[in-house]
Amino acid sequence: MQTEIIPLADDAAEERAEALLRAGELVALPTETVYGLAGDAASGSAVAAIYAAKGRPQFNPLICHVDGLAMAKRVADFDPVAERLAERFWPGPLTLVLPLAENAPVHPLATAGLPTVALRMPQGVAARLAGRLERPLVAPSANPSGKVTGTSAEIVARGLSGRIALILDGGPSAVGVESTIVRPFADRLVLLRAGGVSREALADAAGLPVTDPEADAAIAAPGALASHYAPEGRVRLDAAAVEPGEHVIAFGPAPLPGIETAAAVINLSPTGDLAEAAAHLFAALAAFDSPDIDRIVVASIPRHGLGEAINDRLKRAAAPR
Ligand code: AMP
Ligand code: MG
Repeated sequence: MQTEIIPLADDAAEERAEALLRAGELVALPTETVYGLAGDAASGSAVAAIYAAKGRPQFNPLICHVDGLAMAKRVADFDPVAERLAERFWPGPLTLVLPLAENAPVHPLATAGLPTVALRMPQGVAARLAGRLERPLVAPSANPSGKVTGTSAEIVARGLSGRIALILDGGPSAVGVESTIVRPFADRLVLLRAGGVSREALADAAGLPVTDPEADAAIAAPGALASHYAPEGRVRLDAAAVEPGEHVIAFGPAPLPGIETAAAVINLSPTGDLAEAAAHLFAALAAFDSPDIDRIVVASIPRHGLGEAINDRLKRAAAPR
């Protein structure tokens, strides 16, 4: 893929970015802090492409960027506390973790299958593009995992050239601080990450105590826990064959021996495409997460590229609990 670099000078640049995002392509763009790697939050293939471009070994949930409270309310359920915080601090460096709204335009790969979603309204081009798309954008930092964070179009190009469609060059980043991440409850705010909005400002705006996440480990580190997102049934990985009555998560064109005795089969990608498999993973785990399903078996999935993150997630789903 050829990566275009165009200056973020006028409407034409944003129109080009909008067209690419609508087509499910990735666009690196300046945010208040560093460059973000933006994609359509509702598109499983766009979100999978973000993880692939960054070479992330895990599916961390991503922050959704919206253009205001109206779009935010299509994404998440707001209570009065959350609404007060948004009105006070948006646009700006405050990310709210809230219950995912029904029919939210957010793909499960972007939330890593969580029932909550992290969202904020940024300043500038990221918010404007979400507005043009009329959908949220996910935008983690525009750098390969473990590499230097992109604070200019040149640095972003060095890391991601050939892997993304477009870089909007808005000059060097001011390098502000990251967004504060907070989970509001009726009686307290849980501060998940310190950032541009202070603890005191949050407490003052909400009129509530701000607590640390130690007491809420599952909230603190979604995805980091060994057995998080695990379905109710037992999960067997790298299966060479299916035993009668098992629920099967398959991959690729070759049928597992014994597949005809399965209770149900979901194939993550009949053609063996890892990006497609990533996009279907959380929906498959959710479909088989039921008290009535006690045995789930997963075919062996290659460990290269997105396969590393897929296998990491499956290992957590299968961990003893
Ligand atoms: P960033 O790297 O700035 O894009 O921020 C991503 C951060 O948001 C990660 O630390 C995630 O763990 C956090 N995050 C995203 N979604 C959630 C969620 N549903 N619950 C808690 N934290 C989240
Ligand atoms: Mg980063």
